[in-house]
Amino acid sequence: MASPTRETPAPGRAPRARQKRGEGQWALGYREPLNPNERSKKDDNPLNARARIENVYAHRGFDSIDPGDLRGRFRWFGLYTQRKPGIDGGRTATLEPEELDDRYFMLRVRLDGGMLTTQQLAVLAEISQTHARGTADITDRQNIQYHWIRIEDVPAIWQKLENAGMTTMEACGDSPRVILGSPVAGIAEDEVIDGTPAIEEIKRRFIGDPRYSNLPRKFKTAISGQADVAHEIHDIAFVGVDHPEHGPGFDLWVGGGLSTNPMIGQRLGAWVPRDEVPDVWEGVISVFRDYGYRRLRARARIKFLVKDWGAQKFREVLESEYLKRKLVDGPAPEVPPAPIDHVGVHKQVDGRFYVGAAPVAGRVNGETLLAVAKAAERAGSERVRLTPQQKLVVLDVPEPEVPALEAELAELGLHTRPSPWRRSVMACTGLEFCKLAIVETKARAQALVAELETRLADIQGDLDTPVSVHLNGCPNSCARIQTADIGLKGQIVTDGEGRQVEGFQVHLGGGLGLDAGFGRKLRGHKVTTTELTAYVERVVRAYIDGRESGERFAQ
Ligand code: SF4
Repeated sequence: MASPTRETPAPGRAPRARQKRGEGQWALGYREPLNPNERSKKDDNPLNARARIENVYAHRGFDSIDPGDLRGRFRWFGLYTQRKPGIDGGRTATLEPEELDDRYFMLRVRLDGGMLTTQQLAVLAEISQTHARGTADITDRQNIQYHWIRIEDVPAIWQKLENAGMTTMEACGDSPRVILGSPVAGIAEDEVIDGTPAIEEIKRRFIGDPRYSNLPRKFKTAISGQADVAHEIHDIAFVGVDHPEHGPGFDLWVGGGLSTNPMIGQRLGAWVPRDEVPDVWEGVISVFRDYGYRRLRARARIKFLVKDWGAQKFREVLESEYLKRKLVDGPAPEVPPAPIDHVGVHKQVDGRFYVGAAPVAGRVNGETLLAVAKAAERAGSERVRLTPQQKLVVLDVPEPEVPALEAELAELGLHTRPSPWRRSVMACTGLEFCKLAIVETKARAQALVAELETRLADIQGDLDTPVSVHLNGCPNSCARIQTADIGLKGQIVTDGEGRQVEGFQVHLGGGLGLDAGFGRKLRGHKVTTTELTAYVERVVRAYIDGRESGERFAQ
């Protein structure tokens, strides 16, 4: 439907002057909701949905749930309805949301910094086995994601999580979501500074705070003392940097994000000491809350505001209106020569070791998580981390215990010396559970890894840096396809016999770090799922054959 400003005037009438419409920015006086999502948030703060779940819905069942809660406010507690089984991806766009809704939920547990004790891991495993049919995926935002959750079980799950110091609060929704942090913060030899105290302080002060629970859209944070958290594609990021005068602190980035309008974040040129990170974070999220665009959902991320204002104006508004002081200028962080995923065995600053292991595309289960917790404890560890690459890391392992732990993890399918494919393939939730999905991803990723391990065994030694392959089930970018060497966006494609089948649009040459930039969508590079392995094999062989010494895929 054409927008009102583009209507053709009726014959004989003078055209009206085009009226400039606001973007729904609160700071400019646009407080009336301009779309249904804004209306829902204004009608009732989403944080209030918890009491209704505990007092009403969990007792009266799925059919008692108010639709505004079911498809809106539940997200603030990590709850989405999952996709009804048996509906193929070709029908995703043709059905109403309620036709895609199953009566079961996905539940996301936020684990800021991916931090877990082995005891917490055991609790997550027990919940998986008792309430989630054994499901428990590691997401690329260091969360654990369950499926098959019944509304009746949610209060008991929250109780178990909260008794163990975990939560689903603001795991989704237009809120400050899980904060990514280095899985090896505080123990890595090559980090500039440990970001953990800042992560914990932000969580303590602001998560679940109604002042920040109605944002224009989601707000993703990354804080790390080294470049291992995909900081370039976050709404806000603090990256460790050594200031020549002031010492270790953080470089501030804002305005990154993927999805359908990908943008690399911009540096504000500001150095922030660790104990000021929470205040600066609060300033930036307040700018977003007050000036962010609320008229169109597609333009509501902070990246659009930063793009329109530019870094300089954004910094000026942050300093003058929110912080009431100037920030210190600072240098850019160092860019690592290769992506950091913490897989393998690495020495810690205290002489012990951390051991990173690779499930395929984050797919684990309750049984495996419990076994990991026990194996870690047998190896003398009480700490496990999830990574932004859908991997697991066991910390604090004394050297003599490392070989036995590696062997135990390998028996669980968690290899510490994985093939390049097992190491570098990521996948989103996909058609199995996601209502927006067009194609299947997790099982496809697992098959792809097994097939590539066989078909490309002869060139495995030639891949000094793994070629990353990321699979998305739809045009959103939960698996960060634009920043992969080979990014695969799920869509329906036409096969050789003219049939409409599941497949992928290919993006080639994206990356972070040294190669920060988005992969190019090449005309005609669409593959069916059945052609996928052969396609990846051809691309990788062409890269190996044609590259100069040391040349990376994205170059
Ligand atoms: Fe769902 Fe699409 Fe995100 Fe995959 S990328 S989890 S299909 S929304």
